[in-house]
Amino acid sequence: MLETGRDPLRQSKDLDDGGQERCSVHVWEMGGKEGKSERSDAESTFRPDVVKSIEEEMESLSDELRELSLKIHDHPEIMWEEKYAHDTLTAFMRDHGFDVTPHYLGFETAWRAAFEVGKGGRTVGFQSEMDALPGIGHACGHNLIAIIGVGCAIAVARAMKKHDIAAKVVLLGTPAEEGSQGKLKLIDAGGYKEMDACLMAHPSGGPPCSAGTGSSLAFQALTIQYFGHTAHAAGAPWEGQNALDAAFLAYSALSALRQQIKPTHRVHGIIEGGNWAPNVIPDYAKCRWIIRAPTWAEVEVLLGRVKKCFEAAALATDCRMEWSEQAGNYDVRQNECLASRLTQAAVGGSTDFGNVTYELPSLHPSYAIPTEPGGGNHTALFAKAAATKEAHAVSIQVAKILAITGARLLIDDNFMAEASSIS
Ligand SMILES: [Zn+2]
Ligand SMILES: [Zn+2]
Repeated sequence: MLETGRDPLRQSKDLDDGGQERCSVHVWEMGGKEGKSERSDAESTFRPDVVKSIEEEMESLSDELRELSLKIHDHPEIMWEEKYAHDTLTAFMRDHGFDVTPHYLGFETAWRAAFEVGKGGRTVGFQSEMDALPGIGHACGHNLIAIIGVGCAIAVARAMKKHDIAAKVVLLGTPAEEGSQGKLKLIDAGGYKEMDACLMAHPSGGPPCSAGTGSSLAFQALTIQYFGHTAHAAGAPWEGQNALDAAFLAYSALSALRQQIKPTHRVHGIIEGGNWAPNVIPDYAKCRWIIRAPTWAEVEVLLGRVKKCFEAAALATDCRMEWSEQAGNYDVRQNECLASRLTQAAVGGSTDFGNVTYELPSLHPSYAIPTEPGGGNHTALFAKAAATKEAHAVSIQVAKILAITGARLLIDDNFMAEASSIS
C-alpha cells in the first residue's frame, strides 16, 4: 500500500457514492509551513498551479484516452507488428499538436512525439508500450501503458504552454516489449539520448489501490542446440548420438540445480525438436531457456552454473552443442529520488525498461488494476481486466502522478539534481 501523510505520491482509499472503495490520488500541496519542511526544499518550491493544471488536463483527456485504450485493446498486435497502434497513436498525438516522427529510427512500429516550449529547457520522456501477447491479446495491459504515456505527454505539454515553462516533452512509442527487447534496440539507436529522465508505469494484479516501485528481474534468454547422429533406435542404437537425450539430461540437471539456487532466482525453459520418431535416434534438439535474478550481476553468476548443466549433457551424449545468448535485460534501477514516496515492492517478471534505467534517471512503478482470482499478468483474465472502466480510472490516477513527477523534473532544479545524482 502507499504511504500516507504529506506525500506527493500517495494514494488513499475513499468511498464513492455507492459505498464502493475507489482510489484517489493526492498530490503536492504547499503545506502550511514556511521554510524547510523535513521532506525537502523541493517540495516547498514546487508549483501547485502546475499540479492543478495537470490534474485538470488529465481529467479532461480521460474520455478520449478511454476510447484510445479500447481501440488498441480491441486490435491486439504482437511484437514488431504494432501497425494499427502506431498509426492510431501517432494520429492522436498529431491531432494534439505534437511534432510526430513515425517509424522512428528506422523501426517500422516505433514513433516519437515531441512538444517544446522555448529553448534550453530540460527534456522529460514518457513511453507508450503497444504490443500484445500471442493468442491472449492485451494480457499485459499495454493498452493502458500506451494511454498513460499519451496522457502524461499531453498534460505536461499543455501545462508547459499555459505556465510558460521552457522545456520539452518527448513521448516514445516503444514496440516489442514482450519477448524482443524493443527498448534495447531503441537505446542502441540513440532513442533516449535527448531525455534528462524517463517515466512510465505498468499495470499488474495486486491489492486494490496499491502501487510499487520494486525492481523487476534481470534476465538472460538462451538458445542451446544439440547436434547428434541418427540411427535405427532398435537395429543399431550404438551408432546414434542422441540429441534429445542431451536436451533431457540438461533439463534434469537444471531441475536439480534449481534446488540449490536462491528463491529469488528463476531458471525455466522448453525443449523443441522436429522430425522426431520413436524408432529413430533424434539428431537434433533445441532448448530455449531463461535465467532471471534480482540483479544483472547475479544473472551473470547463475549463467555460469547453468552453462555447466548444458555442457555436461553434451559430454554425456557425445553431442555437439551450440550456445547462444540473447542480449541481456537488466533489472530496473528505479530512481530512488523519483520513487521515494512509493512503497511496496513487487517483483516477478522482467522488462526491457531495465536497460533504460541503466542509461538515465528513470521510474517504472507497477500499479494494481482490479482482476479476478488467478488473473495476473499474461492471462486471458488480465486482458479482460485491462479493458474495464475500473482499470482505466486507476490508470488515469497513476498518469497524474507520473505527469506531475515529470513536470517537477522540468521545473525544479533541486529535484532534478537529486534524481540525477543517484541514477
Ligand atoms: Zn508482459
Ligand atoms: Zn508488460
